[in-house]
Amino acid sequence: MFQDIINPANFSEVVGQVAMASETDVEAVLERAQLAFKTWSRTTAEDRAARLRDAARDLRNALAGLTRLFVRENGKPFREAQIDIHRSIELMEIIATDLPDWSKPVVLDSHQPVYAHKRARGVTAVISPWNSPVLLSFKRFVPAIATGNTVVLKPATHCPLTILECARIINNHFPAGVFNIVIGRGEIVGEKLATDDRVRAIAFTGSTETGRRIMELGSRTIKKFFMELGGNDPALVLDDANLDHEAVAKMTHAILRAAGQVCIAIKRLYVHQTRCDELVGKLSQAFDRVVVGDGLASETTMGPLNNKPQFDFVTDLVDQCKKEGLTVLTKGRKLDPKTWDQGFFLLPSIVLGAGESHEIVRCEQFGPLIPILPFADEEEAVARANNTPYGLRASVWTADGDRAHRLADRLEAGAVFWNSHGIFRDLHIEFPGIKQSGFSRESRSAALNHYVDTYGFAQ
Ligand code: NAD
Repeated sequence: MFQDIINPANFSEVVGQVAMASETDVEAVLERAQLAFKTWSRTTAEDRAARLRDAARDLRNALAGLTRLFVRENGKPFREAQIDIHRSIELMEIIATDLPDWSKPVVLDSHQPVYAHKRARGVTAVISPWNSPVLLSFKRFVPAIATGNTVVLKPATHCPLTILECARIINNHFPAGVFNIVIGRGEIVGEKLATDDRVRAIAFTGSTETGRRIMELGSRTIKKFFMELGGNDPALVLDDANLDHEAVAKMTHAILRAAGQVCIAIKRLYVHQTRCDELVGKLSQAFDRVVVGDGLASETTMGPLNNKPQFDFVTDLVDQCKKEGLTVLTKGRKLDPKTWDQGFFLLPSIVLGAGESHEIVRCEQFGPLIPILPFADEEEAVARANNTPYGLRASVWTADGDRAHRLADRLEAGAVFWNSHGIFRDLHIEFPGIKQSGFSRESRSAALNHYVDTYGFAQ
């Protein structure tokens, strides 16, 4: 069975076609990956590092073409897509550099030398989402193959072409069976990977609901899990916040990057009641400057949503807000009104009047709309920010760094930012989500630790 991959900015363009794998196909891929593991796991770290470096060089040479393909299948503006692919290649290079030293055994005790050795686990399944399918695949499969595992990657079916093209380039440098891709439905391919006892570890990025299902299935064969799940990030704008042009621009980017389809986007904006009108005014102006259109057009600052289920979900959410009597301020400009209905385009919106029980506050909206929620004091703000099963990121916007630091200690999130949100200046620094947002993510080459067993050898 084949599936068309349609450009979300232009329904008449079929960007590519992919074969949907059956359970029998997955069986064959697993067989191949297990066979390749026997020799791949015996290669040296230096050999694997050299192959990663060569693959990274070829990917760099292909960057422009890969970026265009990515925009056409995902919808992101060109610059955002390019950053994703660039970071993926950079990660490969960082890991190639760090791998040889990291691989050396560590001596634990000088009285009786005990050597802690690292050993690849076996076949690792990587399952990734559609919103950032390149970077979130690279972050998991690169450390896995670097450490001597073989990988079966299952990208999301909405957006698999760029990662497929990357794999074609990478596989010029790796033996057959080391890095495999299977495309297909989660219930078939994903569940087969989660249950098969040849799969020793699963690195999953996606929704909390799917992560839970994979952990249930994978627990039967005691797999190692790496889980990066959903989020509903709060941002707290305090009474003394500096809402200058730069701050509002950063906030807007943290809300609308990739049309809000980002796990670490600001999804709830709590503001001190004395600053609410000012924030609504300034954010409205910033949202009004957003140009929504095809990500390949140079004027576009926000692309379409990626797929129909997500488009329908966000559109229904906007309708529901209106039905519930909330105020929805729709902003921004259509790049090309004539072709607007030919893509999953939505203008950005600000939602006013919502309370904690409204769906727009409770759910992970994953779209270009943000509820603004006034609060009276810090206690109330912290309690409402933490009122979620998720715990990815949070931010505090204040002129007082000590105050931000104090509040950070009380906010239930894997990382808390002061006057920015979501991303560290070094784009490769990360911290894992907490609560039902998952666990395991680590920065740079520290992620390698997740993909190995450690055994001791004593003299
Ligand atoms: P999803 O959970 O629907 O799908 C993710 C992947 O799991 C896809 O490849 C899908 O085909 C597969 N899958 C679906 N059902 C499965 C099953 N029963 N068994 C095995 N695999 C199955 O998520 P999505 O809609 O692709 O992505 C959006 C979600 O991902 C959001 O919740 C977002 O917050 C989350 N996300 C989290 C992070 C993070 O780092 N924490 C990053 C990006 C996205």
